[in-house]
Amino acid sequence: MKVLVLGGAGYIGSHTVYELIDNGHKVVIVDNLETGHLEAVHPKAVFYKGDVRDRSFLNQVFQDEKVDAVIHFAANSLVGESMINPLKYYDNNVCGAKVLLEAMVANGVDKIVFSSTAATYGEPERIPILETDKTEPTNTYGETKLAMEKMFKWTSKAHHLRYVSLRYFNACGAHVSGQIGEAHSPETHLIPLILQVPMGKRSHISIFGDDYDTKDGTCVRDYIHVTDLASAHIKAVEYLMDGKESSIFNLGNGVGFTVKEVIDVARKVTGDEIRAEIAPKRAGDPAKLIASSEKARTVLGWEPKYTDIESIVESAWNWHKNHPNGFERN
Ligand code: NAD
Ligand code: UDP
Repeated sequence: MKVLVLGGAGYIGSHTVYELIDNGHKVVIVDNLETGHLEAVHPKAVFYKGDVRDRSFLNQVFQDEKVDAVIHFAANSLVGESMINPLKYYDNNVCGAKVLLEAMVANGVDKIVFSSTAATYGEPERIPILETDKTEPTNTYGETKLAMEKMFKWTSKAHHLRYVSLRYFNACGAHVSGQIGEAHSPETHLIPLILQVPMGKRSHISIFGDDYDTKDGTCVRDYIHVTDLASAHIKAVEYLMDGKESSIFNLGNGVGFTVKEVIDVARKVTGDEIRAEIAPKRAGDPAKLIASSEKARTVLGWEPKYTDIESIVESAWNWHKNHPNGFERN
């Protein structure tokens, strides 16, 4: 099949493009390179530099490339920034989705898989979190992703378009080839920040709060390898190609680790003492987020391969130690 990947030069998008091409599919990428990297674009993919909000550009891409389905990663996704500049998030995430849906409807493309997030739940009502649990985001970023889900829902009813929303938990790790990995700037995610300590790029890792109601007082998260996320996207596109109905799936390992546990694993993997300091809590951080991914397993037949945190951190370390400056020349 031929798939249009919006945001295919970004972290999760580039890994999904590698997975698609490795599985014999054709890929067209659209990315404005705001946070993505040309170096992360697979050499066999067709690449268009442009913005999802650019209606005539997007129409042209749909007319020139007859794609079977769309995978949509292109968004802004920094929680802190979304609280300071909420309209940037409404503009890119919500208005971007609107323009994209208009172009899909106009060009008769009726299948889309897109990135949603655990941040749509807010403070969870129970653990593990089910797709049917209440969604009350505690930040603008999560709110815009929820708005996107609702836009897809109502548009799908009116225009016979079908979608799969994938609510990722904490994406991490890097491609087994060592060619691509996580390279956000600024970096805000826990695992790459911890690994900056043994790389000599920071003196210590800050632990955001140690009096949460968890086993060691630090926040618990469900860490899921980016390659496992990538394979879920392929399963989701195949599910839509089989004519199945629109749906929402959580993607996580179903196991939670505290911040302190992740630091300990990184100490073991890197052999570095990795100094840690307790810092104030980060606003809007729920104490515990763990997915139930039973639905993705049973309905999509998805099976994550990186199920232990040590192999996930090892894979991230393999990328970062060889690319201390990400995609910039070292
Ligand atoms: P990323 O920033 O690495 O990738 C996003 C890509 O989209 C970048 O290449 C960027 O240049 C591109 N982009 C952004 N706005 C665009 C626009 N208007 N037009 C064209 N291209 C545009 O982020 P990521 O970590 O790979 O996340 C991908 C998706 O997954 C996002 O939608 C994010 O909200 C979601 N998500 C990420 C995580 C995570 O842990 N990283 C967790 C849950 C959900
Ligand atoms: N965290 C931390 N120190 C950091 C970065 C993150 O203690 O320098 C914590 C954060 O509070 C959260 C967990 O690590 O509990 C994972 O944070 P991340 O930003 O990676 O992902 P999030 O869960 O916010 O999507």
